[in-house]
Amino acid sequence: MTNILDVIPRHVAHHHKIPISSIKLSEEVRNMCEQNRCGHYGKNWVCPPAIDDLDKIKKDFSSYDKFIVLYEVYELKNQYDWKGMVDSAIDFQHKLLDVKNQISKETRFKILGVGACALCKKCTYIDGEPCRRPDDKIISLEAHGIDVISLMKDNGLKYNNGPNTVTYIGGIMY
Ligand code: SF4
Repeated sequence: MTNILDVIPRHVAHHHKIPISSIKLSEEVRNMCEQNRCGHYGKNWVCPPAIDDLDKIKKDFSSYDKFIVLYEVYELKNQYDWKGMVDSAIDFQHKLLDVKNQISKETRFKILGVGACALCKKCTYIDGEPCRRPDDKIISLEAHGIDVISLMKDNGLKYNNGPNTVTYIGGIMY
């Protein structure tokens, strides 16, 4: 049987168990989605308004008692390397999916990811069609209302890992 602590190191370079109590859900962070700075609000099955509201998320989170933060640091050509950022985010989503798929089905857990789901070239949400891969989509920490910068800082972890890098952060609750 494959358990969480065996699977993670095979796919994600950085992983730290942190107190689940350090996860703070914030209406403010959630509201940032509505400001649509990323351009995905209302366009993806893993973004508001398609996902649960904060009350439902709080209730769901309260059913877990452990949390591991997962992250990867990616090199960029320069600070304007948008393609590098997008490709790195997609790579990170696939690493999280590998973790998810290899954990024993008997284990109850929840994976949290980064950004809008990029598993399909165009998300079906825009066309009112069902998600093509409902078991594979992973909702981001931010869309859940988590202030990721504070979460990392509060636990002595770096959110920014130097010039010309991007750090993508996810997590697993169990
Ligand atoms: S799997 Fe495809 S349809 Fe489902 S959320 Fe991701 S991009 Fe959208």
